[in-house]
Amino acid sequence: MAIERTFSMIKPDATKRNLTGAITKKLEDAGLRVVASKRVWMSRRQAEGFYAVHKERPFFDELCEFMSSAPTVVQVLEGENAILKNREIMGATNPAEAAEGTIRKEFATSIGENSVHGSDAPETAAEEIRYWFSDTEIVG
Ligand code: UDP
Repeated sequence: MAIERTFSMIKPDATKRNLTGAITKKLEDAGLRVVASKRVWMSRRQAEGFYAVHKERPFFDELCEFMSSAPTVVQVLEGENAILKNREIMGATNPAEAAEGTIRKEFATSIGENSVHGSDAPETAAEEIRYWFSDTEIVG
């Protein structure tokens, strides 16, 4: 199986509750390696750019407001099948529908404030990594 990289973000609801370590441990326990990580308090404009694909959705304003309301931790994760593996560990978007043992089941408080983001495909992973990191910040 191919070694992949994916983009992960620990969202403001989780950083505010001091869950950065607990969430990162779940990722590492699943075999993913953190090859880049930094804490970012994104601007409203950065949030709008990052979530541009959702700009016509009814939750877009609320989402961008939330994402720029407190710090996030942006990360690059590396491992076998990293994109799908990360999505599995995250759990469903709505924590009420997330499987036992997933990050969102354990930590998320609502469909909007759902603790983590993870890329959903190789193309978005590459784009999202590039949005937040330069090549020299990624140390595999
Ligand atoms: N979101 C929301 N309300 C919704 C659906 C999504 O606030 O009804 C937010 C939520 O924070 C979610 C993000 O928008 O994580 C992106 O939505 P997407 O459907 O891409 O879910 P994800 O890939 O994060 O599971």
